Amino acid sequence: MAHPKLAAALAVALTLAGAASAQDYPTRQITMVVPFSAGGPTDTVARLVAERMSGDLGQQIVVENVGGAGGTLGAGQVAKAAPDGYTLLLQHIGMATSATLYRKLAYDPLTAFDYVGLVTEVPMVVVARKDFEPADFKGFTAYVKENADKLTLANAGIGSASHLCGMLLMQALQAQLVTVPYKGTGPAMTDLLGGQTDIMCDQTTNTTQQIKGGTIKAYATTTAERLPLFPDLPTATEDGLPALQVGIWHGIYTPAGTAPEINERLSQSLQKALADPGVTKAMADLGTAPEPAENATPAALKAKLGAEIARWQPVIESAGVYAD
Ligand code: ASP
Repeated sequence: MAHPKLAAALAVALTLAGAASAQDYPTRQITMVVPFSAGGPTDTVARLVAERMSGDLGQQIVVENVGGAGGTLGAGQVAKAAPDGYTLLLQHIGMATSATLYRKLAYDPLTAFDYVGLVTEVPMVVVARKDFEPADFKGFTAYVKENADKLTLANAGIGSASHLCGMLLMQALQAQLVTVPYKGTGPAMTDLLGGQTDIMCDQTTNTTQQIKGGTIKAYATTTAERLPLFPDLPTATEDGLPALQVGIWHGIYTPAGTAPEINERLSQSLQKALADPGVTKAMADLGTAPEPAENATPAALKAKLGAEIARWQPVIESAGVYAD
């Protein structure tokens, strides 16, 4: 066993080293894990803020896509990473829903991470392949109910935002469609464009361009009000499906045990990125908006995650959908 005096000296040295590294942070490249495929909506949000944060931090933030299992593979990778500020996770509402959807999760979403801040809350749109028969959302709901077993519903795996939205849709219509999981809705969109899958519910950060270009059909939004970007598109609520209301909030996390100074530094950098007019414009073009500075904080994200786990738990339990 080490001499007590030596052990104490070692502990002091380690604390000082930790403080010094938090002070100098960052001194090298940072990895931001996105737990879905490249080119999808979560990836789009991550790349937008990572670029601006890199400029502010003076070190590059490289986005790494670790898709699979509805975002839980990538989150699990970050949960196990060194808590040194060089591995971040950008994940959305799936951080909260997977807590209930997965009976066995390799990490506890509430204790395995520290928090940087909220990034943006993105609306969803119910979309279908371009030649999908129904003309409007009322026709869509009737058609889907009648043909449920013949229709495919794409999602990014259990625990993903598209899975949650699809689950709410099926629950509201009391219809069970054939669900097809992808590693992200980027590749799912490719199949929707190619007509290999019929329906999807996805963030406007992945659907706006295609809706505007007429390459997919949009039926309804999951918002309380109509979107300024698509004033003609009804909300699911106004067309009789009030349960289909969900906003996909995104947050940035670090592994639990990261120095508070580092989380704070990252939060300040996130706030600057979100205040950048270029980011506001890019987000507006994709139907969303940056969170205000007071929400891009560790405390706001922590509170949001806790509240959202509690909010979705009964909904998921009543739907009886789980992954093992
Ligand atoms: N939109 C996806 C989801 O359903 C995630 C992604 O591909 O970014 O959660």
